[in-house]
Amino acid sequence: MNIEQFYPLFLKSDKVTIDSRKVGKNDIFFAFSGDNFNAATLAEKAADDGALASIVEQPEFENKDRNIFYVPSTLEFLQQLAVYHRNKLNIPIIGLTGSNGKTTTKEIVHAVLSEKFNVQYTYGNLNNHIGVPLTILSIKPEHEMAVIEMGANHQKEIELLCTISQPDFGYITNFGKAHLEGFGGFEGVIKGKSELYDYLKSNNRTIVVNENDPVQAEKTQKYSPKITFGKENSDYQFGLFSEEHFVGLEFKGVKAVSKLTGEYNFTNLCAAASLGLHFGISFEKIKHAVENYTPTNMRSQVVKKEGRTLVLDTYNANPSSMAASLHNFVTFEGSKTIIIGDMLELGTESEKEHQNILDLALELNFDQIITVGKHFKTVNPSALSFDNTAELIEYLQQNKIQSENILLKGSRGIALEKSIDFI
Ligand code: ATP
Ligand code: MG
Repeated sequence: MNIEQFYPLFLKSDKVTIDSRKVGKNDIFFAFSGDNFNAATLAEKAADDGALASIVEQPEFENKDRNIFYVPSTLEFLQQLAVYHRNKLNIPIIGLTGSNGKTTTKEIVHAVLSEKFNVQYTYGNLNNHIGVPLTILSIKPEHEMAVIEMGANHQKEIELLCTISQPDFGYITNFGKAHLEGFGGFEGVIKGKSELYDYLKSNNRTIVVNENDPVQAEKTQKYSPKITFGKENSDYQFGLFSEEHFVGLEFKGVKAVSKLTGEYNFTNLCAAASLGLHFGISFEKIKHAVENYTPTNMRSQVVKKEGRTLVLDTYNANPSSMAASLHNFVTFEGSKTIIIGDMLELGTESEKEHQNILDLALELNFDQIITVGKHFKTVNPSALSFDNTAELIEYLQQNKIQSENILLKGSRGIALEKSIDFI
């Protein structure tokens, strides 16, 4: 089976999925299972469920009568199909990467642009070599724009994702200390994320620049086309204010209050507003989008519980986002407890980075510091240092946290959110 032959079938399909449980009538199923028996069974089951076609990478499982087609590599076929589809699309695509804030920015950009356009965007956090092609393949004729989140934990990954999604606009949320292990330190992060700039520059496409970020400003100094914000002479200037922990954005005297906490979200909002203004959306409409976007995804989410304020940031953590989160939380009025979980994937920098965060937490003088995870344990000998979330829960069942404000932040692997019901 080749792409040209397959494309008409794809156009007739409702969606493409790699999850056999989600195959519906008229869908295309890619059997990614490495397990031979499984791939065959799943493809046959997909056909039973009414799939339009399935792709398998074992020649012996091809069954053309049931539209089960063999290709040498399911992954490559998925990526090539996405490229083929991308090349037929005539809509602006906005690519986002960065160490922190991609999903949040993607959600806000989507909310803002949806004030005027029919926008497709990355579902959840599907931002890798499989998620990006799936998102591209989910773009339908009715869509007028798309926002694609691109994630990476090693070099050349963003380059590949750019080849697939071919963004017309690109924004790097920030360069932070995330995935240091895979990237080879902070310089490696800058290089890896900048593959988005490399793509945009060599194709003469627009870079969205936060001129307040020295790396972004330096890397795009002489480049055009670009859309800039962050400095007095940038294309767009926004004022920062906050209302009860929530970040606000002011533009030409009009104020928009988001439902996000953390000053870093100001930058995310600025990027979205700049794109909105660039595409001719009035700030009144942008305000409407910003004020109505409610995070429900454990990213900078603020909830009330028994009269206390809980900041839920348990989706992920790395040294940059952890530090930003602590600096934000310390501004809350009243007593404060922080529950911080290990920052994973830091490689040889791990112990030092956990020590730095602990030092920062002590310096910021929180009323109570609770750590969860083995990395924090090596630097924090306190009785409030737990090996895992289960141990934290045991403690919480006996001890109620008295503080008026409680922050929960840690890496995905620590799953701090499991403790919320016990706080
Ligand atoms: P992932 O790599 O898991 O896809 P992401 O880049 O999509 O992460 P988000 O899920 O949007 O990032 O946010 C994760 C956390 O990063 C937030 O809860 C917040 O603590 C922090 N964060 C968000 N935006 C920024 C930013 N611009 N700069 C620094 N930290 C940020
Ligand atoms: Mg994300």
